[in-house]
Formats: sequence, structure tokens, C-alpha cells
Amino acid sequence: MKASEIRELLKLLDQPDILSFAGGIPDPTLFPKAEFAEAMAEAMSGPGAGQALQYSVSEGYGPLRQWLSRHMGTLGVPCAAENIVITSGSQQALDYLGKLFITPGDTALVGWPTYLGALGAFNACEPRYARLDPWGNADAATLQAEAEAAGGRVKMAYVSPDFANPTGETLDAAGRMRLLDMAESLGIAVIEDGAYQALRYDGAQVPPMLATDVARCGGIDAARVIYCGSFSKTLAPGLRVGWVCAAKPVIERLVLLKQAADLHSPTLNQIAVDHVARRLFDAHVAGLRTVYGARRDRMLVALAREMPDGVTWTKPEGGMFVWLNLPDGVDAAALLAESLKSERVAFVPGSAFFADGSGRNTLRLSFSCATEAQIDEGMARLARLLRGA
Ligand code: PMP
Repeated sequence: MKASEIRELLKLLDQPDILSFAGGIPDPTLFPKAEFAEAMAEAMSGPGAGQALQYSVSEGYGPLRQWLSRHMGTLGVPCAAENIVITSGSQQALDYLGKLFITPGDTALVGWPTYLGALGAFNACEPRYARLDPWGNADAATLQAEAEAAGGRVKMAYVSPDFANPTGETLDAAGRMRLLDMAESLGIAVIEDGAYQALRYDGAQVPPMLATDVARCGGIDAARVIYCGSFSKTLAPGLRVGWVCAAKPVIERLVLLKQAADLHSPTLNQIAVDHVARRLFDAHVAGLRTVYGARRDRMLVALAREMPDGVTWTKPEGGMFVWLNLPDGVDAAALLAESLKSERVAFVPGSAFFADGSGRNTLRLSFSCATEAQIDEGMARLARLLRGA
């Protein structure tokens, strides 16, 4: 394990005059604070208060598992509460899934780029990474032969198909199908990261890969897709409540891992999330879509107005991120160091998201926490920096 050079740089960004588009976090002014205060107060009053402060089962709070099984049903995944385990954020699920599938030297298929936290979670298990590209040319037999030559086997594919972190891109239905076909040929699990799934601002919803898999294989308990969900981007990340929806044999193993690691996620937090989700999940998420969608629009307009020739960017239909490709030879890490001295605008250099450290001429911008005025000013500063690069 090592601290990344970029994480060290990002520590410098906490200064008040820096316009930051670096953090991929939800806007704290949008958290349903009053509803959580009420939920916590209710859980802590009366005869049930003891339960809220007590140890609880590793699978998670029963009513929340029930609510989540219905929620997954609305996404096209018919399942039971027994197909759900509550985790401490979806990050914990990624940690457990790395442990469950990877022996050092095995191959994990990941996007190029992919979520930095997934690489961080899997790295502890010492995998070899190979590029996952449903539209690329690597076929299953070649991927397996390369994995065997490296001393292991392909064990899993990790994908964030909706508004991915860091690119903001969505995998269309045909791409999801190709990926499922490839996983079937390889006989591997697909870890579907649905962290941003609910945050779509336009375009038609694409069903989760787990929904397609369940329809194809005849039921969730035969599914190879393991769906990791999170309340972090919809309700509040600080409570650390996420979930996995998968075949029962997978859930049973994850419960064993959880028992060994932390027994269970905080009881009070699960009760509060259950309470708030039942009362306002859909309405609250609709409000988030309006606010974040307007910020996404503003950033795309500002980029089109300000950016010099040779810079291209993604047009996300949801989530929190826009991904920039800079001209060849421009190094985004050097650009960030320069920016901290001159323009005082912050972003994440893209190489952090590549398993091999490539992509030096890419960067990630987040629009989730910026006002429209900050977005206008920030994109003008970034463009000025790039014109000087
Ligand atoms: N997956 C992705 C793609 C993310 O961006 C994040 C958070 N940044 C996570 C998982 C982890 O989120 P949490 O543990 O808060 O659910």
C-alpha cells in the first residue's frame, strides 16, 4: 500500500480561495437533515431505544433489507430480503468482494480508467489488472490465456455502468449485454457498482446489469452479477450505509466476511436510513436531480464557451463528473501543481484512475458542490491555464 502522489496534492486543496472541482462528494446543503434528526430522535425514544444502541445481526436491519428488496424490484430485479446484505458504504462491499474473489496473481478486469477506491480496495489482494472494454477487441479466450501466463485466472470484472466515476459515462444496453456474454464465457462474477444509479438527469434509464442477468438466468439465485448500492449519493455518506444485492450463496459469504470484520453496520444509522428512505427517497432524489442536473448543464455550457481547441470532454447523463482529454503531452498533475500557484482552481489528474498510471493528459471535474457562478469562474480559470500549458 502506498499513498498516491495525487492524494498528497489534494490535501493542499482545503484552502478557502481555491475553487475546487476535485472532490467527488455530495453537496452537504442538500442532505435531508431535519428528517434524519427526527428519525434519530424517534429511534432513541421509548422502549425501542435499547435496540437502536444494541448489537444487531450481520445481514443488516430487517426492515431496511425489506425496503431494499422492493427498491431493487423497482429497478427490474425481483429479489427477497435474503438477497440483500447491508454494508458500511459500498466501499466495504468492494473490500469484501476483492477478498472473496482474488488470490494474489489472479486477474481483475477493470475499466481504463476506473474508480480509484475500487483499485484501492482490490489492491490489498494483489490482483493483476486487465482492461475491461465491452467494445474492445480482447475476447474471453485471450484474456484467460494472458491471465494464466501471469500465474492466475480471470476472477471478476468490476464495472460502474451508470455515470461512472471518473468519466461520467454510461454503458448502453448493448454494451452491458456484451459484457455479460464475456463474463459467462469466462465463468466469472461481475461486480456492478451502482453508486450513482439514481442520479440520472436526462436520457432513458438503462436497466442494471443485474436485472438483465436475472432475466437471462431465470432468477437472482443463479445470477453472476453482484450489485453494490449506496445511500451515500442520495441520502448522506457520513452514515456509511450501503448494500449488496446478489444470489443468496454470495450474500451468505459476504455475511461471514462482515461478521469477521466488524460484526454489523451501525444499528442506529440503519434504522435512521430505513425511516428516511421510506418517507422521502423518491421525492428527495427528484430534488437532487434538478439541482445537480442544472450544475451539469452549466459546466457543459461553460466548457464549450471557454475551452481551447484540442480539449475534449464527456457529456454525462447523470452523476457528478465530467472527464477531460487534454492535448497529447499535457501533464494534468503538473497542471494541477501550476494551478495551485497561479489560477487556484482544483481538479483530479486522471492518471490516478488508471491501474497502470497512464492517462497523464486526462483530468476529472466534479460539478456536485459548485454554484453556477463558481462553475463559470472555474472553467474560465482552467481554460486560461490550459492556454498557457
Ligand atoms: N463507488 C463509486 C463509483 C464511488 O464513486 C464511491 C464514492 N466516491 C463509492 C463506490 C463508495 O461510496 P460509499 O462507500 O460511500 O457507498
